Amino acid sequence: MPKDPTKFMVCSSCGETFDFSKTKTPPFCSERCRMIDLGRWLDEEIKVPHEGGPAKGEAVEESEEQ
Ligand SMILES: [Zn+2]
Repeated sequence: MPKDPTKFMVCSSCGETFDFSKTKTPPFCSERCRMIDLGRWLDEEIKVPHEGGPAKGEAVEESEEQ
């Protein structure tokens, strides 16, 4: 474990412990990890379905009212 915990963080992307004072992209250890985490976040956003019926503008012709 690092001697000075205040200078070190655990990267939330790769899980590595890194020197907080040497990164330009906190809370990530590097720009690469920042982009990975961002990509993962966006991926989850896309996968989450919008519940409550079709979104505005989508075709609803298949479900005819009776
Ligand atoms: Zn990292």
